Amino acid sequence: MEGANALEKTGSISIFEEVGKMGHEQIVYCHDEATGLKAIIGIHNTVLGPALGGTRMWNYATEEEAAIDVLRLSRGMTYKAAVSGLNLGGGKAVIIGDPAKLKNEPFLRRFGKFVNSLGGKYITAEDMNMGTSDMEYIGMETNHVTGLPVEMGGSGDPSPVTAYGVYMGMKAAAKKAYGSDDLSGKKVSVQGVGQVGKFLVGHLAKEGAEIFITDINGDRLKQVSADSGAQVVGMDEIYDLPVDIYAPCAMGATINDDTLTRLKASVIAGGANNQLAEEERHGKLLRSEGIIYAPDFVINAGGIINISSELKGDYNKDLAYSWTEKIYDTTQKIFELADSHDIPTQQAAMKLAEKRIEEVGKVKLSL
Ligand code: NAD
Repeated sequence: MEGANALEKTGSISIFEEVGKMGHEQIVYCHDEATGLKAIIGIHNTVLGPALGGTRMWNYATEEEAAIDVLRLSRGMTYKAAVSGLNLGGGKAVIIGDPAKLKNEPFLRRFGKFVNSLGGKYITAEDMNMGTSDMEYIGMETNHVTGLPVEMGGSGDPSPVTAYGVYMGMKAAAKKAYGSDDLSGKKVSVQGVGQVGKFLVGHLAKEGAEIFITDINGDRLKQVSADSGAQVVGMDEIYDLPVDIYAPCAMGATINDDTLTRLKASVIAGGANNQLAEEERHGKLLRSEGIIYAPDFVINAGGIINISSELKGDYNKDLAYSWTEKIYDTTQKIFELADSHDIPTQQAAMKLAEKRIEEVGKVKLSL
């Protein structure tokens, strides 16, 4: 012990130091001996409204890994909601442990009680390893759940709306790069044809783009190729294709030192989260190479827009789509801001989000 004020650190990080750097409002540690529940709820910012973000269950190797994940993800949700014009803040929850071993009714209901104890300051939804039936159990203990299945009066799978938003963002980026948002005849590579990728491919096929797809799941590839006429390419080959647009729709960090020397596309616009391996450095590199990058958290916000419209009462699909369509204008605004300040588009998007939080925050404080 170095002194009376020395705090126990979670692994090698200090939670208060990290929270201080990232600006979180509240971190809630939830523990229940009887069910084995260990969860962390991160509430990043509630200036615009309650903190919305899914609950992810993962067998984290260390508590530190879980803590970093929840801090990073909840902060990301603040930016995503703010830039999308939603009256929501950013939050996220992580549950630590093996879903196959731990998840059952009492475990999930106990977690629901913790969510409820926050009185609506945090609203949860599905994320990795948390499905519909899990949400049903959580929903038995709290009303602060969204993104419920259609049978439960919810908005159902958000992926088609997410894909539509990505498509809108891609069109805005094409307009910037090529002077027209018409994607017919454009060569587009889509990495990952899961929920988001497959619906995106549908929009592209309808518009007459020449599509190239890859995935680790062979059956999915075959199906999407048969439905859309897209050409199947190898998993690594995708980075070397002579295409106009690259759409990462699988995992994060695919824009990195290696791929940046290989990618031929003038536009990058996809649904995956955290596409830039190093946000600042790779953002700058994209700008210096003249590649138009549509920031991931801006153009993949259709999902959160969709589940947030469920919060207003009766879910209205048309409203969710028309709100998502605004991603086109927002993306254009971000390109303008990036040019006027000579900054990367990712940074411009963050600036726009921060500006809205600051301005609306002042309005909320006024009489
Ligand atoms: P998904 O699991 O349905 O699809 C992902 C696909 O990527 C799968 O088909 C998988 O086989 C494939 N894949 C995995 N590794 C790959 C690799 N190395 N190369 C090529 N393909 C690979 O997930 P999804 O819901 O379509 O989400 C895709 C991405 O979009 C994720 O990063 C997710 O976080 C993000 N996202 C999704 C939504 C949504 O509404 N579903 C919203 C916002 C962001």
